Amino acid sequence: MKPTATEEDILSVIDRIESCGAKAHPSRGEEVTVIGAVGDREHVQRLNLEQHAGVEQVVPILKPYKLSSRQFAAHGERTVIEIDGRLIGGDHFSMIAGPCTVESRDQTLTTAHAVAEAGASMFRGGAYKPRSSPYSFQGLGQEGLRILAEAKAQTGLPIVTELMDARDVEAILEVADVIQVGARNMQNYPLLAEIGRTGKPVLIKRGLSSTLEELLMAAEYVLKEGNPNVMLCERGIRTFETAYRFTLDIMAIPMLKELSHLPVIVDPSHAPGRRDMVLPLSLAAAAAGADGIIVEVHPNPEEAICDGPQQIYSDAFGAYLEQVERAAAVAGKVLSAAA
Ligand code: PEP
Ligand code: MN
Repeated sequence: MKPTATEEDILSVIDRIESCGAKAHPSRGEEVTVIGAVGDREHVQRLNLEQHAGVEQVVPILKPYKLSSRQFAAHGERTVIEIDGRLIGGDHFSMIAGPCTVESRDQTLTTAHAVAEAGASMFRGGAYKPRSSPYSFQGLGQEGLRILAEAKAQTGLPIVTELMDARDVEAILEVADVIQVGARNMQNYPLLAEIGRTGKPVLIKRGLSSTLEELLMAAEYVLKEGNPNVMLCERGIRTFETAYRFTLDIMAIPMLKELSHLPVIVDPSHAPGRRDMVLPLSLAAAAAGADGIIVEVHPNPEEAICDGPQQIYSDAFGAYLEQVERAAAVAGKVLSAAA
């Protein structure tokens, strides 16, 4: 829409789009409003929206994903998500830190205090864990969520935690500020749609063997339900290389930014599976323009139930964050903290 378009113009365009059976997705930017028309291409074309009052331009989006595509964003504006006064995206760099898994009250609260004092933006921790083996510890479930709520109450840090099963959505919503979709669930479409309907911010991790297009289609499932608060997360993919667990795809950062307006977060922990590689990968990601990092931290990783070898020590987290902040500054970003 033109910057001068009135509210009446906008509503009337929305009506026209919906009159042909398409769905209108208005996105109100600071200066202009963009209205996504998702539906049968020919029907939408026949509306002659170019002629309509207040319309600046009609742009056909050729990609299979629409709402997550860069073309959908007005004037190249990027999505910036606000969570409890912290901004994600744009010039902001978010540091999401915490244990792989909520193992106990003590381990969780100790880590939460350590990362909060060092300046983390949000706290992570899984109560429901996607484990490769059904015989491995599956997470504390509801009890884990209760502990996360306590961590938030004590530190004020927003909580990022994984939802694996749509049946747990109510319980997760009580605690989570950001719902994490694990790599293994990236293509669980009913789960994505359910999260879309909640409107809650969501961090979608790239599947182990998923292309960027598939990741953006996963985001599309959430956006389509009217939830604009989507973050994309690169966490390492399967390649022919066997020297490390997964290959962290650094190129995904500039590529996703070219393809999409959504914030891009990087997980430097799960690809190497080794603590000593977490810092170099974090620096690379931050310098390459990532909008944030989600990293695993534990007070004594030797005793961690899950992902011990890759979790960084909570007492080394402050020094780690300082270095990552410097790399983020190279890319023009400042650490996101409570307003
Ligand atoms: C995790 O974040 O602890 C996790 C299980 O990640 P992923 O889904 O990327 O394997
Ligand atoms: Mn983990």
